[in-house]
Amino acid sequence: MAEQKTAADHDVIIIGAGVCGIYMLYRMLQMDMNVTVLETGDGPGGTWYWNRYPGARFDSESYSYGYSFSEELLQEWDWSEHFAAQPETLSYLNYVVDKFDLRDHMQFGCKVSSARFDENLNQWRVQLEDGRELSCQFLLTAIGMLSAATLPNIQGRDDFNGEAYHTYYWPHEEVSFEGKNVAVIGTGATGVQVIAEIAPKVKSLKVFQRRPNWCAPLHNSQISKAEMEEIKTHYDEIFAKCLETPGAFLHGPDRREYASVSEAERLAFWERLYDSPGFEVWLGNFREVFMDPAINREYSEFIANKIRQRVKNPETAEKLIPKDHGFGTRRVPMETRYYEAYNQDNVSLVDLNETPIECITEKGVRTTAAEHEFDMIIYATGFDAITGAFDRIQFTGRDGQTLYDKWEDGPVTYLGIQACGFPNLLALAGPQSGSVSTNFPRGIEDIVNWTTDLIRYMKSEGLSTVEPEADAEAMWTEHVKSMYEGNMVSTTQSWFTGYNSNVPGHDKLRYMVYFGGAPKYREILTENAKEHYQGFEFH
Ligand SMILES: Cc1cc2nc3c(=O)[nH]c(=O)nc-3n(C[C@H](O)[C@H](O)[C@H](O)COP(=O)(O)OP(=O)(O)OC[C@H]3O[C@@H](n4cnc5c(N)ncnc54)[C@H](O)[C@@H]3O)c2cc1C
Repeated sequence: MAEQKTAADHDVIIIGAGVCGIYMLYRMLQMDMNVTVLETGDGPGGTWYWNRYPGARFDSESYSYGYSFSEELLQEWDWSEHFAAQPETLSYLNYVVDKFDLRDHMQFGCKVSSARFDENLNQWRVQLEDGRELSCQFLLTAIGMLSAATLPNIQGRDDFNGEAYHTYYWPHEEVSFEGKNVAVIGTGATGVQVIAEIAPKVKSLKVFQRRPNWCAPLHNSQISKAEMEEIKTHYDEIFAKCLETPGAFLHGPDRREYASVSEAERLAFWERLYDSPGFEVWLGNFREVFMDPAINREYSEFIANKIRQRVKNPETAEKLIPKDHGFGTRRVPMETRYYEAYNQDNVSLVDLNETPIECITEKGVRTTAAEHEFDMIIYATGFDAITGAFDRIQFTGRDGQTLYDKWEDGPVTYLGIQACGFPNLLALAGPQSGSVSTNFPRGIEDIVNWTTDLIRYMKSEGLSTVEPEADAEAMWTEHVKSMYEGNMVSTTQSWFTGYNSNVPGHDKLRYMVYFGGAPKYREILTENAKEHYQGFEFH
């Protein structure tokens, strides 16, 4: 007897209820799709739901980060600061969810543990940690690029008797710092925000630093009612500007040639960059700063001198200046009075290159030099970025192949959207896509719109599966790889290059990010849709 085909429970399952999952859900509901969102957290917001640590805030201008798809939403929402703090962004995303009646289509407290493609039924069967299994035609991942938190490989972490927090899993209840001796381990973008925020509140703070980062002032400020009204009349220009810059930020490179500008003019320009809000200090620079090592050294020295001016103790200042990479070759942490924190008597820096951590003890942190006692340890040790959330779900495609195995030596994709052997599994901000290195919502709106059009096309043509051709996948992966050549970013160990010493096997260069810029990536997607999705195979 012929096997009876069973319909999937859902047309579409979206994993993740962050910025990306929220917008994807909105678009799928507009198309009357039978769709659900599965989210580990107990509410929407993703990054802004989880990272409740003190000091968590944007480095994108708030009004350049909000969704652009609804004029009504743009006119209704008031941002209170140029770079909003986490609670405000979380409120914004909850507002969006309620305004567009999305909450009933989201399931919270639902962690996806695995998903298997059923080749007979052309469906994904999605397993949840609570034991349930759901099925769908299209499985869309909105699982985040910075959502798989990592702890350092240090022995004895469970032995500590005091309070211990990873910044991603920060408690929902208020944490008191008063009278406490606190350790912060890690000086990346998150550590820098936490340190500056809690330094005035704690009894003492010791910062354990393995590698310093080049940080620069955020220059945040309040937005008055009148200014917000003014911003609302300029949204078209704001988004138009984001559309034209490589990072989809309000900041684009200075088009002059470095050599065409006199030294005096250059220094005045760099002073202006340093005094400007947001990423201007990084992305508003001459392009040669990130292509030519000698020019990068000159700018790095300019920034190093700023650090020397801001930190009173010259020895501490030198320890805070990176020596292993140039300015801007890793994502630049933006700060508010970070360097000044080290001028406080209650704040000190432990350089782990001089005295590495041996273990965590009941009382605190033991380095090769001493045992430091604490009431609280904060792990600001970041993420298994970009591929981490994928690795934590066992995706099994055709012929029993897992995505984990396929990507063991680094991600392999077509357009950063799909991998061969995994039909109808579409990554919305996947590795090698243009979204992961941008002002995120701008990149996200592009890929969500493209995916919506693809699904609409397949429905209208009666097609049931989409999967990239092997040649197309190989071509894209090579293309992504080729863009690392000649780019100083590729010489630095960071999440752009796939390094993470806390994750086994992530000790080699992996090609994680499409570096062609947001406008080029958007153009590629648009052309691809126009040409009926060249490089994809449909059945
Ligand atoms: C502290 C911090 C500050 C940032 N600031 C900026 C900024 O200023 N500008 C900018 O452009 N970007 C910033 N980013 C990047 C930020 O991650 C993106 O802007 C954006 O929030 C990502 O949205 P997303 O929906 O793709 O992913 P996320 O917001 O990470 O959401 C992914 C969701 O998927 C869920 N999920 C993952 N795996 C599973 C699973 N197996 N089962 C169920 N659910 C799962 C997670 O719980 C999470 O809620 C920042 C990131 C951090 C950590």
